[in-house]
Amino acid sequence: MNAEEFRQHGHDMIDWIADYLEHADQYPVMSQTRPGEIRDLLPDQAPETGEPMAQIFADFKRDILPGVTHWNHPRFFAYFPANNSGPSILGEMLSAGLGVNAMLWQTSPAATELEEKVMSWLGQLVGVPANFRGVIQDTASTATLCALICAREKMTGHRVNKKGVAGLENHSALRIYTSREAHSSVTKGARMAGFGDENVVLVDIGPKRAMDSADLVAQIAADRAAGHTPCAVVATVGTTGCTAVDLLTEIGPVARANHLWLHVDAALAGTAAILPEMRWMFDGLEYADSLVFNPHKWMFTNFDCSAYFVQDPDHLERTMAIHPEYLKTGHDREVTNYMDWGIPLGRRFRALKLWFVLRNFGAAKIRAMIAAHLALAADFAGWIDADPAWERLAEVPLNTVCFRYKPNGVTDEEELATINQALLDRVNAEGVIYLTHARLDEVFTLRLAVGQTRTEARHVAEAWRVLQKAAAG
Ligand code: PLP
Repeated sequence: MNAEEFRQHGHDMIDWIADYLEHADQYPVMSQTRPGEIRDLLPDQAPETGEPMAQIFADFKRDILPGVTHWNHPRFFAYFPANNSGPSILGEMLSAGLGVNAMLWQTSPAATELEEKVMSWLGQLVGVPANFRGVIQDTASTATLCALICAREKMTGHRVNKKGVAGLENHSALRIYTSREAHSSVTKGARMAGFGDENVVLVDIGPKRAMDSADLVAQIAADRAAGHTPCAVVATVGTTGCTAVDLLTEIGPVARANHLWLHVDAALAGTAAILPEMRWMFDGLEYADSLVFNPHKWMFTNFDCSAYFVQDPDHLERTMAIHPEYLKTGHDREVTNYMDWGIPLGRRFRALKLWFVLRNFGAAKIRAMIAAHLALAADFAGWIDADPAWERLAEVPLNTVCFRYKPNGVTDEEELATINQALLDRVNAEGVIYLTHARLDEVFTLRLAVGQTRTEARHVAEAWRVLQKAAAG
């Protein structure tokens, strides 16, 4: 592809993306494709000779697009948002155009220094204590894995890095504490970091589904008595199921008194801390050793862009850094080499899209949009509360409403789960809205999460209409 062809196809594609985002609501939100259907449309071998872009793009529209679930559809209310925006897409495009690998300062000084700066901006915007420093990771799962590895190395005096798990003194099990509402990435990180599933202690939750700090104290004491070694606490600010908030002001002192690493997983909710009225979620953050939240969920920055903050970057570097000769430069003493701040060596220039978003939106606009999402979720919760045929199943501190259809007279839990699963399947097959479910204490719950860039009051009202119609018959 020469420069002229690139220009032409690039213009066509930007036009297409602009129209797509403007009219995403014309597609069924959840792809209606059957398993294997897309694969069967595609040839078994890659082409031997190049094909024209126009043909490839036409095939994309005909064969691929029907298999896309539209995460940036204004009526996408499933899982959690993964929203995007014009400035973010343009930043992503520039990053692809430059194609730099931001592993070392020297491999693209601007990538490193812009990342340092935007992470500092981001930290200030959501109230991260000033002594924390940030790095962009691909996902919250990776950031949590980094945190758990750092916790392990702190507890063992860097012995596991050196000697492997066999180097653990007395073979005493290192234990991690997290609430039973925590995301599966905590257990996955525990596996990957060598703790093992059985050493993830699921702490009880209180009435608001947040971690019960009294049970945390009890579990730590029981573990010590049993000869285990308490190592880390992972608190969740905004759980995946129902956005419950573990209180750092309660958990932080327990972690500190027991010399445990405190990692805060605020993957979704962290963005909301940009609102002064939501800042309470981060009260006690000064107790934390590390924090992750995802601008790629709710801050209009397309996937992937996960913000990881640490209180002690020297410890992170000591845990992660390996310096083979071919990666040494003359500047290593005076600069940040972000390859030492995480797992992969190669790193994308993600700071560019975040910089574009923060500058083009401005903090005030982001605040206004997040506040609007919270208000829309509160409206929906109000409609559920006002209708006796529906039941709300959790508080709504953020953007997610947990609820179910509860027709008059039906009290059996199994039957309610079957009714609501069928309702969910019907609604998603229709394609007007997309919702997913969770289980809270085994109770099957529908979830409506508001957070798309283009979601307005009329879209949430439509969700309510669709649900009522589906319930009626
Ligand atoms: N933590 C929480 C609380 C989440 O809700 C999620 C995603 O839903 C994750 C972690 C995982 O995020 P990622 O896909 O960035 O790893």
